[in-house]
Amino acid sequence: MFHFFGNIYKVTITYQVRVNSERNILIFSDLCMDNRKNIVKSEILNDNVIKNDSGYSVKCFICNNYRILKTRENVRRALKYNRNCNSCTRSIIQTGKNLGERCKLSMSLSQKRRYANVEERKKTSYSVKKAMHVPEIRKKHIQALTKSRWLGMSVDLGQIDFINKWNRLGFHFEPNYQIHTENFLCYLDGYDKEKNVVLEYDSLYHSKNNQKQKDLVRQQKIVEILKPKRFWRYNLKSKSIKNVLHFQ
Ligand SMILES: [Zn+2]
Repeated sequence: MFHFFGNIYKVTITYQVRVNSERNILIFSDLCMDNRKNIVKSEILNDNVIKNDSGYSVKCFICNNYRILKTRENVRRALKYNRNCNSCTRSIIQTGKNLGERCKLSMSLSQKRRYANVEERKKTSYSVKKAMHVPEIRKKHIQALTKSRWLGMSVDLGQIDFINKWNRLGFHFEPNYQIHTENFLCYLDGYDKEKNVVLEYDSLYHSKNNQKQKDLVRQQKIVEILKPKRFWRYNLKSKSIKNVLHFQ
């Protein structure tokens, strides 16, 4: 017989509930980061994700075809946000356009030809990347993006709470403040226009080396454009805040 007279602990588990209408199920995921990562693991067990040399084959819940995603993070996000494959997304966007059968067939064939050919794929990838370095094209692209309703809408977990806390202290930080020049576009986590103060909220992924480098380039651009009086970066990992303008 085993008796346990230890302390009694109260355990509260918070669940996030999402409705996946495609699959007609409710998905419970608890808010702990580690467990959110396990979504990939569990979908591998369910054969919805197959790990292979070129990355991960991920099943699309609309057409049931597999498409390849390169990193585990890509897979996690695709699952978390119930993303469809590109061709399903395209067909959803294109609903309403009346294309003739012959037209559709020829489009489909030419796409298949193109994507089956590695050289063609490289060519497209190269030309798109190259185009973004052509000032005229970049300018037009950014012009179009500044008008997009969909950019600058997502926030990091905790970002809004953090900004609200500061605003209660007398600041007027606007979340996701858009700044752009002809060849640069970005959204600031928080910007106080009156006081000319920038607030960046660095959640965990900003601690990765690759991201640090990108943040630095971006930060430099923001300083050049706004010439802010203060530029505060809050680091969620170390829970510390610092002004990155050295001349202050
Ligand atoms: Zn699909």
